[in-house]
Amino acid sequence: MELFDTHFHYYPEDAAVKDYAEKARRAGVRYLLATGANLLESRIARDFANQNADCWFSAGVHPHGADAFKEDISIFQEFIKEPKMLAIGEVGLDYFYENSDRVSQKKVFSAFSEMALDNKFPLIVHCRDKNDSEEAYSDSYGILADFSRKGGSFVLHCFTGTDEWCRKFLDLGAFISVGGIVTFPKAANVRQLLKIIPDDRLLLETDSPYLAPVPHRGKRNHPEYLAVVAKYVAGQKGVTEDELAGFTTANAFKFFKIRRDC
Ligand SMILES: [Zn+2]
Repeated sequence: MELFDTHFHYYPEDAAVKDYAEKARRAGVRYLLATGANLLESRIARDFANQNADCWFSAGVHPHGADAFKEDISIFQEFIKEPKMLAIGEVGLDYFYENSDRVSQKKVFSAFSEMALDNKFPLIVHCRDKNDSEEAYSDSYGILADFSRKGGSFVLHCFTGTDEWCRKFLDLGAFISVGGIVTFPKAANVRQLLKIIPDDRLLLETDSPYLAPVPHRGKRNHPEYLAVVAKYVAGQKGVTEDELAGFTTANAFKFFKIRRDC
């Protein structure tokens, strides 16, 4: 089994870089994508990727930090030519916490979408609404419909929206990434999404150190726990863990345009 954790956050205090990746590998999680949520974390993610085989990174500004991001987006050009850079993100809209005002969130999200288009990178998108509201989804949809019409590809990470929104984004060509939330007792809606997402659009992630799956819920998450998520998702889908690992890892290689020999 060779799983791909397509979304996690590496913080240097977690463990030495080599031990961190090795621990995941021993659990069957061979491939890792360290996601950048601001400039500093994107640099840390790049360094992590450069120090490990089968590890890559992405660079972006999370919606939580959108209004604190005062630099010119061109500062992110430093990542574009990096050999291990796979995607722009995570970027998006978060109206649940609304740590940044909505105008700043949309501005930063749109700017990074353009950077992704200009440089032919896929986009890793975070989208979360307040309960019983659909504004983050509809605003994201506006930006992503335009983005995909211009040839961009994107993944919705840790998607927890409705079936209807899931279908709308799938119609735009979205990949959908599922993580530890799927194991939570109250996440029936996420389990329901597994019936809608086609096998060739499904990716797996941990979003560690956040959102550890049951039975580790509440603890610090780690990419090794992707094996727990995979076992659970395989059970829900009625496939073996090897089959699930086979097609989700193949999807990740295709989506992020990774060559098998690199
Ligand atoms: Zn994340």
